[in-house]
Amino acid sequence: MTVTTVGFDADDTLWHNELFFKDTQARFAARLADHADPDHLMERLLAAERRNLGHYGFGIKGFTLSMVETAIEVTEGRVPASVIAEILADGREMHRHPVDLMPGVEACIRDLAPSHRLVLITKGDLLDQERKLAESGLGDFFDGIEIVSDKTAATYTRAFDAHGDGAARALMVGNSMKSDVVPAIAAGAFGVFCPSEHEWELERAEEPATHPRYRRIADLGALPELLRSL
Ligand SMILES: [Mg+2]
Repeated sequence: MTVTTVGFDADDTLWHNELFFKDTQARFAARLADHADPDHLMERLLAAERRNLGHYGFGIKGFTLSMVETAIEVTEGRVPASVIAEILADGREMHRHPVDLMPGVEACIRDLAPSHRLVLITKGDLLDQERKLAESGLGDFFDGIEIVSDKTAATYTRAFDAHGDGAARALMVGNSMKSDVVPAIAAGAFGVFCPSEHEWELERAEEPATHPRYRRIADLGALPELLRSL
């Protein structure tokens, strides 16, 4: 059965993203250095992010609010308003980071676009994802764009029904085992893991190493060859 449709994750699959979060986290730790040791602070921040996902969803806005919340917590309410203002400015700055494509991305997309339907399936802030897609110059290659609040098996079933021939004839590639690979395989698609150097802890999951529809590649440059081999 031929794969006709290829779903791409965006952040840390098409372009760098997590490293900007890591940079901002380092700045956050420096701003609160008088109040909390960095390891403890990162633990509290991650706990706040996990707690807040259901309220704010994925993306920079929710991350910024979690930094503010953590700053209030670790200082027991004594964090100066000037530091809150700096944290908010750091969050806004993240919306301006340059769009820097990952290795092999452009060649892969150009190679596959004539023969496959390409669908971008991403979480994150709507405006930020639209900005990055526009700046990437890749927008015209995609037959469908899905900016979703979460990635479950149902998300992939719906997206591949809407933009392709169903999940059974689709492949999803991304850097998150938890969001891109495992639920896509559960929907019946191929799930291709393309790990990135910087990983967010909340995107980890066990590798479905023996599943017949699981594959792993080093970068997107290897995807056209993999598709031809299926
Ligand atoms: Mg990603």
